[in-house]
Formats: sequence, C-alpha cells, structure tokens
Amino acid sequence: MQYDYLIVGAGFAGAVCAEQLANAGKTVLLIDKRPHIGGNANDTRDENGVLIHPYGPHIFHTNSKRIIEYLSRFTEWRFYEHRVLAVVDGDTYPIPINRTTINRLYGLELSEEQVEGYLDSVRQKRDPIRSSEDVVLNSVGPDLCEKFFRGYTRKQWGLDLSELSASVAARIPTRTNDDDRYFGDTYQFMPSQGYTAMFERMLANPNIMVKVSTALEDIKHQASWNHMIYTGPIDAFFNHCYGALPYRSLRFEHQHLVDCQQFQTTGTVNYPNDHVYTRITEFKHLTGEEHAGTSIVKEYPQVEGDPYYPIPRPENEALYKRYVELAEARKDVTFVGRLAQYRYYNMDQVVGAALSTAKGLL
Ligand code: FAD
Ligand code: UDP
Repeated sequence: MQYDYLIVGAGFAGAVCAEQLANAGKTVLLIDKRPHIGGNANDTRDENGVLIHPYGPHIFHTNSKRIIEYLSRFTEWRFYEHRVLAVVDGDTYPIPINRTTINRLYGLELSEEQVEGYLDSVRQKRDPIRSSEDVVLNSVGPDLCEKFFRGYTRKQWGLDLSELSASVAARIPTRTNDDDRYFGDTYQFMPSQGYTAMFERMLANPNIMVKVSTALEDIKHQASWNHMIYTGPIDAFFNHCYGALPYRSLRFEHQHLVDCQQFQTTGTVNYPNDHVYTRITEFKHLTGEEHAGTSIVKEYPQVEGDPYYPIPRPENEALYKRYVELAEARKDVTFVGRLAQYRYYNMDQVVGAALSTAKGLL
C-alpha cells in the first residue's frame, strides 16, 4: 500500500503529526517498535489494576493555551498540581527550594523579604552563567547546592553540575514564598482517562493505520510512502556515522504495596544524597485513583538501555549539529521530537514542535 506519510514513533511527536495530517485528508502509516502507542508517555494498568506510567511519572503542564486547547479535543482533564519533597539528612523539605525549605533547614523564621536577603547573602554571583553549577550557585549558594543539587545531578546524569549546560538546573526555580508546587505553569492537569486513552482518540481517524511492534527496518520493504517523519534518535537514523550521541537511560523498578493506602505524602519524593535511585513516585497522587493498595516506581539512572534523555552539554550539541546537516540534506524525511531533535523537551513542547512540523508540511 502507498501512504502519503510514514511516521516512525507513536509518542507525542508522531501522534500529533499523524492526527494533523490525517485530519487534512492525508493517509498515514504510523509505526512504533514498542508494543504500544504513546511513546514514553504511555500509561497502563499494572497487574493489580492501578494506572501506572511504565516509563516514569508524566505530569502535564504548560503555559500555552493553544496546546491545552488542542489536546482538549482528545481528553478531559483532572486538575493536578505536582508537589515534590526532597529528603536531606533524614528530613523532608519542599523542592523547588522555597521559604519553608530555608526556614525548616536552618531553624529560621524569615519573611519573604528576608528570604530574598538571605539568598543574596549566600549566593555566589556568576557571570556569565554557562553551566548548571553556575545556575545553582548563582541562585542559592554552595550549601543548598550540595544538599539538594550536586548529588542528585551526579546520579541522574553521571556528570557533575559543572559539566551540564545551564538549561538543566534552570528547569528548577528558586522561590522566596511558600509556593510548593513543582511547576509554575498556568495549566497543570492530567488526562482524566490517562495518556493512552488520549492517544487512542488522537489516532482514531480512519486515514491513520497504526502498526505497533514494528521498527523502521521491518517496514522498509513492506510499504511505500511519499514522505517520512522520524521521531526516534537522530544518530540511529544515520547509523551513528559520526559516533553515538549520548542519551541518558533509566531502569524503572515498579512495585505494588498491598493494603497500603498511601506510601508517601506527595506524588514524588527526591533522594538527592541517599540511595542509588533518584526519586520515588506514587501514581495514585497523580491519577487520583482509589485502591486498597498503591503502586510506586523508583528511577535508577544508567548509561545502557533505551534513550530517555538527551544530555545537554556543548560537545553533545556540536555532535548533534553535524547530524542536523545530514538531516537537512534529506528532503524526503522530517525529524521531530525529543530524541530526533536532541532537545530536553517536556510533553507540551513536543506537541508544539509537532504542530509546527505538520503545518509546515501541509
Ligand atoms: P518518545 O515518546 O520517545 O517517542 C518516540 C517513539 O519512537 C518511541 O516510542 C520509540 O519506540 C519509537 N522509535 C524509535 N526508533 C524507532 C524505530 N527505528 N522504529 C520504530 N519506532 C521507533 N514531560 C512532561 O511534560 N512532564 C513530565 O512529567 C515528564 N516526565 C518525564 C519522565 C521521564 C522519566 C522521562 C524519560 C520523560 C519525561 N517527560 C515529561 C518528557 C516526555 O516523555 C517527552 O517530552 C515526550 O514523551 C517525548 O515524545 P516524543 O514523541 O518526542 O518521543
Ligand atoms: N535537580 C536536582 N535536585 C532535585 C531536582 C532536580 O539536582 O531535587 C536537577 C537535576 O540535575 C535534574 C534537573 O534538575 O536532572 C531537572 O530536574 P527535573 O525534575 O526537571 O527532571 P526530569 O523530571 O526531567 O527528570
């Protein structure tokens, strides 16, 4: 069969492109080498019937009205503001660092204004700000950096804060008030029936043929198409001809606790300095489900395994740019998504990138 488009990868990048192109009357073959749709945002019920995220916790947040409105065509939403505690020296503190964190940690009773003054007195002015270390020292100084950031970062990336671009630590704000939400975005919601149900509705158009458990290599001789959209790792597409682009992987250890209503008081607890894993997430907080037991996941960062995170640092960006040159020469293929664009994108940013890509093709 001849399709207008082959789309490789059924995560947000691939599914949004498929939906937009099919809606415009194009025929689309959407494949994924994994046995399901949704990419890393896929969710499913575990053997105890609890809705879990097999590839780690996914919380939707965006400042874009356009993107939340677009996705609202495929799902209803459950209001959910994510909160995270970090365990430091046996006690739990809100992260991002806020007024409560500082007062509790140092036994102080500072007002918002005084917290600003306190941070001014401990921060180390850095100019220019290039690395994640610059970001953290410039905003909270060395003690808070060691307690909350350096160990977590070393575990998560296998690198020191000083070896990562500023954009990584800049994801975490510093607050002087009592706001203990992890994200500050205008829209913070979870799809009420889950992500997979949302993807199913996105892909319901009869112009879209979905084939899971199918890799690009499998389909090459079975179908033909006029144009390809590729959302996998860009270096793999070009057979790693300039060498492998580093991606960070994770091992997820899922666990169900029978007869445990609640394992922890917030959706996620971070362990910056203890344990091999970085954080534990309890899914019932995210989904609002009720169940006699509860399901949790621990994240163990590792080098080997599926690529989950591009690693933002200048030398990786330089290598990526060489692959971009090859990509630009391929007029028959468009590259979009977190792995294909080697960008530390959140879900909403991938949706935005995919909407622009589809618009550009139509
Ligand atoms: P993916 O979801 O990775 O989809 C790409 C797909 O391509 C994959 O399913 C893969 O199997 C397939 N593929 C690759 N190569 C081939 C091939 N050769 N043939 C066939 N198929 C192929 N974002 C948020 O906004 N909020 C969060 O809370 C959040 N938490 C996260 C937690 C973790 C642990 C991780 C790893 C990411 C998190 N993200 C979060 C980011 C979010 O997962 C991504 O932004 C988004 O899922 C990326 O979508 P994508 O389509 O670009 O890539
Ligand atoms: N980070 C940290 N301590 C924390 C939380 C985050 O040092 O308690 C740093 C760490 O380098 C992490 C980055 O900030 O990788 C981004 O954190 P985020 O929670 O956004 O990571 P993600 O959810 O994408 O894994």
